[in-house]
Amino acid sequence: MIRSNKSGIWKYEALLPNISTDNQVTLGEGNTPLVKSRNIGRELGLNHLYYKLESANPTGSYKDRIAAVGVSWALEQGKEACIGTTSGNAGASIAAYAASSGLPYHLLVLESILEAKLMQVVVYDAQVKKIKGFGESAAVGSKVFTYIDEQSVKNNWEVLITAFKFNPTAMMGVKTISYELFNDFGGQSPDAVFIPVGGGGLFTGIAKGFEDVVQHEKDARFPSLVAVQSAGCSNIVQAWKLGEAEPVPGDSTSQISGLQVPNSLDGKEVLEVLNAGNGWGESVPDTSTWSWQERLASRDGILCEPASAITMAAVEQALQAGRIHKDSVVVCVISGAGYKDMGRVQAIVNTKNEVPLVEIDSLLS
Ligand SMILES: *Cc1c(COP(=O)(O)O)cnc(C)c1O
Repeated sequence: MIRSNKSGIWKYEALLPNISTDNQVTLGEGNTPLVKSRNIGRELGLNHLYYKLESANPTGSYKDRIAAVGVSWALEQGKEACIGTTSGNAGASIAAYAASSGLPYHLLVLESILEAKLMQVVVYDAQVKKIKGFGESAAVGSKVFTYIDEQSVKNNWEVLITAFKFNPTAMMGVKTISYELFNDFGGQSPDAVFIPVGGGGLFTGIAKGFEDVVQHEKDARFPSLVAVQSAGCSNIVQAWKLGEAEPVPGDSTSQISGLQVPNSLDGKEVLEVLNAGNGWGESVPDTSTWSWQERLASRDGILCEPASAITMAAVEQALQAGRIHKDSVVVCVISGAGYKDMGRVQAIVNTKNEVPLVEIDSLLS
């Protein structure tokens, strides 16, 4: 794919929104490692299993690609601040890029936000408010969006919410994942890319990226894109199984932070890709996701969030069902770092033997 000599995502500026070099904010996002599995692939009988380590981004998730483009775009348009809402990772990411660009960031969060995720927003000095009842009451939710709308128009603020439905310009940053994958495989597409799906923005961005790849590169193939959801919040996968164009309605009972999104904002776009035959859906129980989180760490040295480990639960399921086979080139998008959800890290640690305290003399012979 076309590359300039800039670093990170700006290497692909020709395929991103037009932003002057002065306003292209970067903290070193993108250009993330593509790592081949040394153990788990062999254990499953997969010869070509790869991890795309989005956890290596500056704030620990792929949301940095969106924040980099979104905050730069806000600067380019002369906006005075950014405003939005988040369940966690997007907030940390936008807070970091807003800090770097000197723009204030006004953030409204759920009353029940994970304390660890809130801390990451606060250290970057965002102006955060928890909203009473936000996350439980639909009425409060719609008032939050009314407030965001009002403030953004009145004060010339950029609305930065990480879904195509709200900010398609910022979401263009996600496409760079696909360009990097194509280049990492030496100018080829992999066979299947397993993508965690909450609102569907990550999936949709990767699909748009591979559309660009197919358009710009002679003979390039569009890979199968696999939409992976928690069985407790699988409104898109259920709709795909029924052959429908819109996500089915229904609440979330999933415990996977980042994937508890019952009103999938970009669900329609995901279903367009799947219904066109360019991929399929997998839904997996949370217990399977948790055991894969542990196995990824202990067998392949990859500590990620449950929202990323879910892709391996889906790989195992797809292999058993014959949707992928031993020679398929398979990529799991490891969307976020393990430290994002320390409660889950603690849960894994609790299953291991306690760390012993010993006298060094007792170890010497
Ligand atoms: C945001 C997020 C997702 C889900 O992305 P959507 O665009 O909402 O589908 C998955 N994993 C991590 C780590 C995230 O931060």
